[in-house]
Amino acid sequence: MFQFTEEQLAIQEITQKYAQSSIKALADEIDKTGRYPKENIQGLVDIGIMQLSIPEEYGGTGMDDEISKALAVSEVAKCCASTAEILDVHYLSADILMRKGTPEQKAQYLPQAAEGKLGGFALTEPGAGSDAGGLKTRAVKDGDDYILNGTKCFISNLGPEEGNHFVVVAVTEPGIGTKGTTAFLVDRSMAGVSCGKTEDKMGIRGAAVSELVLEDVRVPKTAVLGQLGEGFKIAMMGLDGGRIGIASQACGVAFGAIEEAVKYSGERVQFGKPIHANQGIQWYLADMATRAEAAWLLTLKAASLRQQGLPCTTAAAMAKWYAAEAACFCCDLALQIHGGYGYMKDYAIERMYRDARILRIYEGTSEVQKMVISRNVIGK
Ligand SMILES: Cc1cc2nc3c(=O)[nH]c(=O)nc-3n(C[C@H](O)[C@H](O)[C@H](O)COP(=O)(O)OP(=O)(O)OC[C@H]3O[C@@H](n4cnc5c(N)ncnc54)[C@H](O)[C@@H]3O)c2cc1C
Repeated sequence: MFQFTEEQLAIQEITQKYAQSSIKALADEIDKTGRYPKENIQGLVDIGIMQLSIPEEYGGTGMDDEISKALAVSEVAKCCASTAEILDVHYLSADILMRKGTPEQKAQYLPQAAEGKLGGFALTEPGAGSDAGGLKTRAVKDGDDYILNGTKCFISNLGPEEGNHFVVVAVTEPGIGTKGTTAFLVDRSMAGVSCGKTEDKMGIRGAAVSELVLEDVRVPKTAVLGQLGEGFKIAMMGLDGGRIGIASQACGVAFGAIEEAVKYSGERVQFGKPIHANQGIQWYLADMATRAEAAWLLTLKAASLRQQGLPCTTAAAMAKWYAAEAACFCCDLALQIHGGYGYMKDYAIERMYRDARILRIYEGTSEVQKMVISRNVIGK
């Protein structure tokens, strides 16, 4: 059993209070319009959550704690998966900057991130999804600079209004695979950087996903994150944390779906009694609650390992895979418990069901998580 510290419980409480009182009320409208929920992001800045892990010297809250981040993301996700996605990707980008940024990079970008200017992570390309080793975006040395060319697709926290800075992984030495890639910190305002197609998505409609187009973008060599040739390694290190974030988001979605199912099944009367008086419905609820709890424990375990600086790649993959599947399972049964009404947009579960589906795809599909886990099981 995990014992949370007083500080962690305070983070959970403050996030829960804000999410339940403000974020929840906007979730439906954000889904319908697909707009950027800027008031949610400002609200999360106001309560110190957007900048939770950023050191105080850069304007952050100074709580670099993986468990607190998991608690914050899951509380937001219970109410709005879109806002949780924005928060999670922002954490991922800040985490890479804190671990790999130079003092100058941190001094420039962490205060902006602390103010709620969104950070992103740009790895995926049209020809390189699960196989991130197939990147084509090039960074060519030119004097003291690099010139970047390429298109990243499906980039979260990039939209017409949102997206300030991005960790971009590009090929610096072709022909030697992932060891020939380097990570760069790219500012949205740089000449040649643009937001291409913004996707029209099935779910998490308030969390923009767009193409990041790089056309002859000249960046100084000081924009390199970490060392030359470390791009893929940095991306995988960042994804360890990112996957714990998605697992946290998935747990929040699962718990939120259970809340909706419990409420509805207590109110809906058929055959002269609430539907939750039937063992069939009770067993659905038991199944959902147990899977959500198992997912949460795996997530907390992975977060705890990462917090201690211990290897966490397998634990993060297990948490991400299991929690994503559990969230989809819970949303599906919660919708079933709502009957025909669950299929209608009048009920939150219709949105939650669509929102949940992405959890099995981004930051590595369920199949990719199983590849990571099985490598460890086989001992390769
Ligand atoms: C809403 C959204 C937000 C995203 N945000 C970001 C972001 O911020 N930054 C970023 O870099 N990327 C982002 N992505 C990209 C995301 O991580 C990729 O979509 C994902 O990794 C899968 O890549 P793909 O879509 O190209 O699918 P593919 O790699 O083409 O996979 C297609 C199918 O084949 C399966 N498959 C592939 N290879 C194997 C294999 N070896 N064995 C078994 N099955 C396999 C996959 O599991 C999947 O089911 C986002 C995607 C979406 C949809």
